[in-house]
Amino acid sequence: MKDRHPKKERTFVIIKPDGVQRSLIGEIIKRYEKIGLKLIGLKMGVATPDMIEKHYTIDTEWMRKTGEKTIANYKEKGLKPPSEDPIEITKVVLNNLKKYMTSGPVIIMVWQGAHAVGIVRKITGATEPLTSDVGTIRGDFVLDSYVMSDTDGRAVRNILHASGTVEEAEKEIALWFKEDELINYSTIQEVILYDVDLDGILE
Ligand code: GDP
Ligand code: MG
Repeated sequence: MKDRHPKKERTFVIIKPDGVQRSLIGEIIKRYEKIGLKLIGLKMGVATPDMIEKHYTIDTEWMRKTGEKTIANYKEKGLKPPSEDPIEITKVVLNNLKKYMTSGPVIIMVWQGAHAVGIVRKITGATEPLTSDVGTIRGDFVLDSYVMSDTDGRAVRNILHASGTVEEAEKEIALWFKEDELINYSTIQEVILYDVDLDGILE
């Protein structure tokens, strides 16, 4: 990846079961498409609990980091976390995620373009819908919170997953797609986005 041009960056997105149920597939694709990113892989299916576990534990630090974050979230709100052990806490989070993410069909996608990982995260918005900025997908289309999902013992419904780093994206793409399911092609708009001289426009 180091020697690749930034326009070749790829990221991985899941439209989670609530996104599909809310009829947001078109709206979500439209937002990633309109900024100039290119869709290079797309599948629909029902995920298995095993795939969801693999997906979330690709980052070996995710269990610890998520546990620590969750404990901090409880304490910030003056609530007692169910455990002080980050790994124990994340096991509960992961179990809830398996139920949520396998509850119906999902759409999985690979998007390519300049700074694809960061751009998709920006458009997607912060993880907890309650605090996602207005104008982001999560900020505009869903109203869930950790207080509500933790109270009800379920995963927070935030419509989307999007890779957090280029490294995470590469691992996630390899987990969900075979290389021949990703299509290398050009779009006409790439000239205006990336061409250095812009010498092909005027006749
Ligand atoms: P993302 O990259 O924005 O999806 O967020 P993370 O990778 O940090 O977390 C993945 C998933 O773990 C989220 O979609 C939530 O379901 C869950 N999660 C993360 N942080 C917390 C938290 O503080 N509390 C709870 N209850 N769940 C969390
Ligand atoms: Mg993440």
